[in-house]
Amino acid sequence: MSARLIKGPEVAAKIRQGIVDELKGLTAKTGKVPGLAVIIVGENPASQTYVRNKERTSKKLGFHSEVHRLPENVTQEELLEMVNRLNMDDDIHGILVQLPLPKHIEEEPVIHAILPEKDVDGFHPVNVGNLLIGAESYIPCTPHGVIKMLEHIDYDLKGKNATVVGRSNIVGKPVAILLLERHATVTVCHSRTQNLAEVCRRADLLVVAVGRPEMIKGDWIKPGAVVIDVGINPVDGKLVGDVEFETASKVAGYISPVPGGVGPMTITMLMVNTLQSFKKKYKLV
Ligand code: NDP
Repeated sequence: MSARLIKGPEVAAKIRQGIVDELKGLTAKTGKVPGLAVIIVGENPASQTYVRNKERTSKKLGFHSEVHRLPENVTQEELLEMVNRLNMDDDIHGILVQLPLPKHIEEEPVIHAILPEKDVDGFHPVNVGNLLIGAESYIPCTPHGVIKMLEHIDYDLKGKNATVVGRSNIVGKPVAILLLERHATVTVCHSRTQNLAEVCRRADLLVVAVGRPEMIKGDWIKPGAVVIDVGINPVDGKLVGDVEFETASKVAGYISPVPGGVGPMTITMLMVNTLQSFKKKYKLV
């Protein structure tokens, strides 16, 4: 392996320590702590794990953490009522509805019901719009984590050819916007992109969020490129990324492994957004 690893846990730990240090002063000033409320509907095992991790991390950092577990058969109205209650709760600064929701519930009205100033996932159209025009917003957590990993290695994006594979609303599109804002020349690829390998080979920076195990091969990568693998795919009881690590790590200059890459950044950036909301509420920014 010639590539240097971008280790998510290391970057995340540094950011989390910064939060703990900053919070001491903020709590001394306000007598309050940031509050994060997570709503989870049903028993999806992966969602349960994500929510437990969010709860654990909030508590570790000294936040107030609430998890509202609603039954699978909850109605849309009951869920919206819960969101409204949390919107009005002064001790809650961030609200997150764990996705996916059961089929009988429409996701959009639920996300739209969260007050934009408490939308720490950054999925509300007001925050999405602000992100697009470069105004202050909550940056979606995984894309924000990708940017922090690039900052960690002092990667100067100006003028670089950045290729993002995947165009989802939660990863690909916001990553592309953030890279563009930092003056990269951005190409966004998706399932209809032709000659994907060739497009990837031109990239100085390759961010991959596709959800297909080891789809990006080593010979799709420009020698020395920076590769951020967002993919998390369970294969034979193990987690693998969207990039074939074995071959890609021989060619890339830097690469984020899976596991041990982007994963831990997502929850960390959720905490960053919750802290930001708390600071705004008490006019500490
Ligand atoms: P989505 O399924 O929403 O989007 C996948 C994207 O990949 C789509 O834009 C799709 O194109 C594109 N795609 C699919 N197949 C191909 C192909 N053969 N060639 C090129 N593009 C293709 O996934 P997400 O963005 O939600 O997640 C992507 C991955 O990232 C998953 O593995 C997920 O688990 C992981 N993830 C990790 C997180 C973390 O914390 N580390 C957080 C969120 C996601 P099209 O639009 O044309 O359909």
